[in-house]
Amino acid sequence: MNGVMPPGVENPLVFSAISAGIGAIVGSFLGVVCERVPGMVLGSAGRENLWLPGSHCPQCGHTLAWWENIPLLSWCLLGGRCRQCRNAIPLRLLMVELLSALFFAASSGFFPTVSGWLPLWILWCGLLPLAMIDSRHMLLPDCLTQPLLWAGLLTHAVFHTLPVTDALFGAAAGYAALWLIYQLFRLSTGREGLGYGDIKLLAALGAWCGWQVLPLVLLSGAILGIIGYFVLYKPDNASRQIPFGPFLSCAGIGVFILQSAHIAI
Ligand SMILES: [Zn+2]
Repeated sequence: MNGVMPPGVENPLVFSAISAGIGAIVGSFLGVVCERVPGMVLGSAGRENLWLPGSHCPQCGHTLAWWENIPLLSWCLLGGRCRQCRNAIPLRLLMVELLSALFFAASSGFFPTVSGWLPLWILWCGLLPLAMIDSRHMLLPDCLTQPLLWAGLLTHAVFHTLPVTDALFGAAAGYAALWLIYQLFRLSTGREGLGYGDIKLLAALGAWCGWQVLPLVLLSGAILGIIGYFVLYKPDNASRQIPFGPFLSCAGIGVFILQSAHIAI
């Protein structure tokens, strides 16, 4: 499991380029997850699921031809607009593909062992949709947080990146810590300061990072959240709620990257 590179790919540059291509394709699917899962969870998507109907323009329903659906390339070929109605294709879809391509390439470049890059790719696939969906819909669906937690436990069991007991205690401690903060805040203010999705997300991050670094994840997420509150959201009144998931996700993957660097060294 800990071989330096996949068989047949000895050149690091070639491997990074292949990783970027895989990242763009995976990013294209993650874009579908970000667009469709909220409707599926909230019941507003009708019979739509991740696979059906096929890729289409959300404005006019135009079904995309194969060449209109190539990650990164099609957006450039079409000038960022639907071929039929000429409405703009959301820039966020391009960003998901681009960021995924860059992240996959960078992680396989910096951590060339399978036990280095593969866990990072898996964590990215869980956290990116959660961060995007929470930032747009204030929603952290169970169908994403729960598999992410299990994926963390299984990853450590398979790749020995962390002792599984640390990951198990991390999941339990992550849940317990935010549940306690949630209850204390509710008792003292009568309001809900967090969603249950945040509690489950920290449990998943506990499974990925281990219980020892949970305070660091939570503190970093809170600091990023405070910065984001003033910088990104420009709140016009103090009572405005902002999603915590994107900041917690950034903190979680940041800490896991630092841990991966330590393991790689
Ligand atoms: Zn259209």
